[in-house]
Amino acid sequence: MKVTRRDFFIKSSIVTGALALDINCAQPAAKVNKPIVLSTWNFGIRANKEAWTILGQGGKALDAIEKGVRLIEADPNEHSVGYGGRPDRDGHVTLDACIMDEKANIGAVLCLEHIMHPITVARKVMEETPHVMLSGEGALDFALSQGMEKINLLTPDSEKAWKDWLEKGEYKPKVNVENHDTIGMIALDDQGNLSGACTTSGMAYKMRGRIGDSPIIGAGLYVDNEVGAATATGHGEEVVRVVGSFLVVELMRSGLSPQKACEEAVVRIKQKFDLRQADLKDTQIGFIALSKTGEYGAYCLQKGFNFAVQDKVESKLIDADYLIKT
Ligand code: ASP
Repeated sequence: MKVTRRDFFIKSSIVTGALALDINCAQPAAKVNKPIVLSTWNFGIRANKEAWTILGQGGKALDAIEKGVRLIEADPNEHSVGYGGRPDRDGHVTLDACIMDEKANIGAVLCLEHIMHPITVARKVMEETPHVMLSGEGALDFALSQGMEKINLLTPDSEKAWKDWLEKGEYKPKVNVENHDTIGMIALDDQGNLSGACTTSGMAYKMRGRIGDSPIIGAGLYVDNEVGAATATGHGEEVVRVVGSFLVVELMRSGLSPQKACEEAVVRIKQKFDLRQADLKDTQIGFIALSKTGEYGAYCLQKGFNFAVQDKVESKLIDADYLIKT
């Protein structure tokens, strides 16, 4: 059969079309696991469920993470976050928190006293002021100006524990002592946007005015909507030293999976101990990370850190792998 010039063009364009289709098929867009939320420690299970009341309805990650961590801030039985948190050595409960959204909007409060929900004050700093951080009395004045109530954060339980501690008065943080510390939460919503929150009462019996990593954007929390999000818990002094959460996100940007990025960040922290010839046996650090596609990972220095994950399929608590195995 004679093949006309017209037939030839039709046939070749079908072949070309099929090839183009093949190429597209060979590189399908990565499947995104969304919405999804991750939180540090075992109270993360409850916090994630609370966040899911928003995420599961197609709501915004920013609203979800704020709502999720508020649950833990308000719980007097959680002694490392918000109301009922352990005080500093002088008996003041001072709270640190920060928040970051998909547009790189940020807000933080440092050393805030008498307010139940530092994360909401951090969000107000982000949305209602020209600044990104407020501390101490200024943060308190601002919270009050936003209609928040002034309360006593030192519960009878925490007061008693502090008075017992005063008998020796030694500052010796123990690793994983309450099996939970700061709550860091990172989420990816149905629209594919990431946000994160981090809130804590800091290290129990710290010096007055001490700030750790938790309210420091880049250290305790970082979100980059093109890449992923990460948050940290544990001894804040060590996380600040390597700008931990930013480091994890940048490692993800350079191609590492969330798991490998967390592992590398913990190795960097260990290297800093080696450099200073410092003993790390009483130090814990944990990172969790979430990518733009909903892939996640976590890693810590010593055994004992866990984190909670919730997505459309399940809600679970996972023991993070750790570096120091001996
Ligand atoms: N990172 C917190 C701080 O250093 C405490 C913790 O997460 O255990 O204040």
